[in-house]
Amino acid sequence: MKYCKTCLLPDTKPGLTFVKGICSACRNNQIKKKIDWNYRKKKLIKIINKIKKNNPNSQYDCIVPISNGGKDSWFQAHFMKNVMKCKVLCVNLSAHLPTPEGISNINSMIKSLNVDILKLTLKPSVHSALRLKCFKKYGEPNWAEHLMVFAGVYNAAKLYDIPLVVWGEDISFEFGGYGKKQTPNASNLFYKNDLLKNKSLNTLIDKNLIKDRDLYFYNLPSKKEIKLSKIKNIYLGYYVNWDGEKNYKFAKKSGFKAEKKPRKGHLVSYDNIDEKLCEVNGWLKYLKFGFGYATDELCYDIYNKRITREKGIKLLKKLNEEFHPDFLDDFCRFHKISETKFYEIAFEYINKDLFKPKNNFWTLKNYPK
Ligand SMILES: [Zn+2]
Repeated sequence: MKYCKTCLLPDTKPGLTFVKGICSACRNNQIKKKIDWNYRKKKLIKIINKIKKNNPNSQYDCIVPISNGGKDSWFQAHFMKNVMKCKVLCVNLSAHLPTPEGISNINSMIKSLNVDILKLTLKPSVHSALRLKCFKKYGEPNWAEHLMVFAGVYNAAKLYDIPLVVWGEDISFEFGGYGKKQTPNASNLFYKNDLLKNKSLNTLIDKNLIKDRDLYFYNLPSKKEIKLSKIKNIYLGYYVNWDGEKNYKFAKKSGFKAEKKPRKGHLVSYDNIDEKLCEVNGWLKYLKFGFGYATDELCYDIYNKRITREKGIKLLKKLNEEFHPDFLDDFCRFHKISETKFYEIAFEYINKDLFKPKNNFWTLKNYPK
């Protein structure tokens, strides 16, 4: 495993490319510093004006997909409503196991932003069956979650005839991934996405457990449909200088509450705190690729010059060593499996090229130097 010379990302990250030892996330973060954000904002105003002019009868100008009161969602909805002066419909694909922070934050968010919200809660039995299939087949239960959000929001836009969906940042550009360059067009979310990758819903369906009619909100649009559709999908991160920590500070002033302290294996206490099921998914990602929440959160601070790479390396070892699958009880209950079964499946996904045994568990063989 080789690491980037200027951050902590390893070459095991899918899609990440290196030039002279420097990864695409670092290179993109340098590109971001030279962007004329005022010019980009003016471009966004033009798009919004055109959308409003061409859709005089739409009840809403745009959809803003929101998590359970996450800091970025908070900023996105505020920006589109108060800065861009849009009539916003927030769409939330409800978490099946929200945390107390998530419940409180989404309530505070709706109150503080004063917007309409459409909450979609998909059938628990279907969601649990799909997640379990993804866990067994890919070691990635949250693939079902990503699908639910991307397809669910798009299909809500279709149902309610809303011309624009404003997504957050392009993670592939911001954090390094398959996307080669930054694009305003978020339609690639549906078929060229770092979270969905090249997996397909068809391979997960067990006709005995799940009926086609249960899957409306999981069905992604085809390339042809996207081409013919009048729904425009854009990344807000193309038009405004995206910074998760700034979004956190903004949301905090409006009532967002972080957890009291970072969870084990995390640097910050304000990211991914709204629901319980993604924590285990993050732990599995660490075992498969040798990097997890700690790397992502530390890199983000390195890109934004909040910590040095040297300090990052020291913290990374400590955070990785203490990382464990939080909310495992809830995870097992939701998927109706025992803890023994969980570990049996999870351990199949440990990448033995990257990890070696230590103290009844596994530890990374190589750290950045
Ligand atoms: Zn890098």
